[in-house]
Amino acid sequence: MSEVAEMYQGMKDHKKRLRAKYGVACPECVRLLPKANPTILLPQQRCRIHGYRDSRPELTDQQYSDA
Ligand SMILES: [Zn+2]
Repeated sequence: MSEVAEMYQGMKDHKKRLRAKYGVACPECVRLLPKANPTILLPQQRCRIHGYRDSRPELTDQQYSDA
């Protein structure tokens, strides 16, 4: 794998870990689209379907790098 591809892969893995650790399902997705996979939201992230915004404070650098 090239260096750039490796870096990209690392970023993707980190995103995945962030989502696994801090992500919550959009409550509107769960309520309105119970059969679909809900959008997973990180703090302050907005659901593209519903415009619902997660109200938790943004992740700190510490939390970010802990994932
Ligand atoms: Zn949603």
